[in-house]
Amino acid sequence: MTSAMALQASDAKVVVWDDDLEARERAADAGFILRELVSKTSFKEVDKLIVSPGVPYLYPEPHPVVATASEMGVPLDNDIGLFFQAVSSEGFHGDRNPSTCVAITGSNGKSTTAALLHHVLKKIGRRSQITGNFGNGVLASGIPGDGEVMVLELSSYQAELASKLSPDIAVMLNLSPDHLDRHGGLGGYFAAKRRLFASEAIEKAVIGVDDPEGRFLASEFAGRRGTNSIVRISSSATCENPKSLTFYTKKGRLYETCRGTIHAPVDLRSLCGLPGNHNLFNACAVAAVCRILGIETSQAIEAMSTFHGLSHRMQRIAETRGVTFINDSKATNVASASRSLQAFRSIRWIAGGRAKEGGLSSLNDMVFNVSKAYYIGESADEFAAQINGVPFEICGNMATAVAAAVRDSREGDTVLLAPAAASFDQYSDFAARGNEFAAEVRRHID
Ligand code: ADP
Repeated sequence: MTSAMALQASDAKVVVWDDDLEARERAADAGFILRELVSKTSFKEVDKLIVSPGVPYLYPEPHPVVATASEMGVPLDNDIGLFFQAVSSEGFHGDRNPSTCVAITGSNGKSTTAALLHHVLKKIGRRSQITGNFGNGVLASGIPGDGEVMVLELSSYQAELASKLSPDIAVMLNLSPDHLDRHGGLGGYFAAKRRLFASEAIEKAVIGVDDPEGRFLASEFAGRRGTNSIVRISSSATCENPKSLTFYTKKGRLYETCRGTIHAPVDLRSLCGLPGNHNLFNACAVAAVCRILGIETSQAIEAMSTFHGLSHRMQRIAETRGVTFINDSKATNVASASRSLQAFRSIRWIAGGRAKEGGLSSLNDMVFNVSKAYYIGESADEFAAQINGVPFEICGNMATAVAAAVRDSREGDTVLLAPAAASFDQYSDFAARGNEFAAEVRRHID
């Protein structure tokens, strides 16, 4: 809706459609003309089709409206493409100091990294906006002002379809299988993410090199744009590079190396809002961007100490009688759930939902701390069949799973919701799932 509103405000003639009746009613109430563009003739007067990220444009099969538009040769775009078109034609670059757009993508950690960067910038007195996949759509954000930083979280769907992607700093955190059905496999998924690095407008790239795709992208980008244009980040020391800047974490410390020289490490272990090694890696990404923006690493880390983390990401809900309850509902894929499973001991694990392509077998290496699993949702049987050597109970729904986990738990246990699956079989989104978990926990402990 924000895209439609922004286009209407710019005097474009807008017609809208949503397959969901309630969304159509909201659009009609807001005064929009509704039209289901399914016939070829209905596209004759259409100059551009703006597609929401939730609408499949190619795989597993194109939505009929997108298919007809493509058949009629109608240009496709999304809000991100419109945003960068507007930025490049109107040059929102401040009167004295240019604004900077930092676009962040990756399979996991985008929201946390974007929120952490925004937090640090505000804390040290720099102007900053956070937008894109985070919160309101990018077209609802204000025009970046003098010296302002636009922190833009980008999903693979958004990156793939945007007609223009020209941030000043592009960040790719990591790559692991996710959304494979929408991209025709891992290669298509990586290709979508890679589009973020194609523009000549990018001044610097920050790339996580813990995955083969990240290492390849870093070398390919350096080949095109020079080694000085890239900062490598990692959760191990293996990324040290004699020719460029690197940031990595090791044993809770952040190391910064410049052309082979290691600066004094900074201790990250007191950052309570960033639990787990994966979050220290996110801190690394933020420190790297800050360095490019001219902010000292020590100043950035100090500002991170007041970051409290985001809801539904390894969020501590309660602790009672020695049992801790953690809501990681946003762990919607195998890689993110793996991080949670490594971060706690003696885990009562609530998992399941709508399974993603790619299988669950890699979780078998991560369940060594699980005392018992409680499976929910339509993939409960799949989890039971694919996860080996862990006692389990098929619970079906959240209320039953929480009740069973509470019944079984002993002092020192962690009851962890880390579903490794999407929520859409039982909930509107991951937040609704996390909220139900939290409500059930409170019902049992109050
Ligand atoms: P995204 O916006 O990419 O989905 P979030 O910050 O919302 O990322 O986190 C999603 C899930 O991934 C949460 O379960 C979180 O604990 C986990 N996570 C966060 N950062 C990372 C990371 N760098 N690597 C792997 N998992 C991560």
